[in-house]
Amino acid sequence: MSKSPKASKSTKAFVRARDKVCLICKTRGSRKNKLSIHHIKPRWSHPHLIDDVNNCVLWCTKCHREYHGG
Ligand SMILES: [Zn+2]
Ligand SMILES: [Zn+2]
Repeated sequence: MSKSPKASKSTKAFVRARDKVCLICKTRGSRKNKLSIHHIKPRWSHPHLIDDVNNCVLWCTKCHREYHGG
């Protein structure tokens, strides 16, 4: 239980297949701006929702960084 929680591979695969593009800017992703999973309810406060696909959205790295402020 000491590993930092992350969405499982199957969760990521499901969300990528469902959303396909960044839900904010609609990019399909690139080498420099990859698509990744954002958790609507954050992992630290809702660890039980990490693999809940309804809590996951596909965002690109750029939008993701802007949202998280870094
Ligand atoms: Zn984006
Ligand atoms: Zn995020």
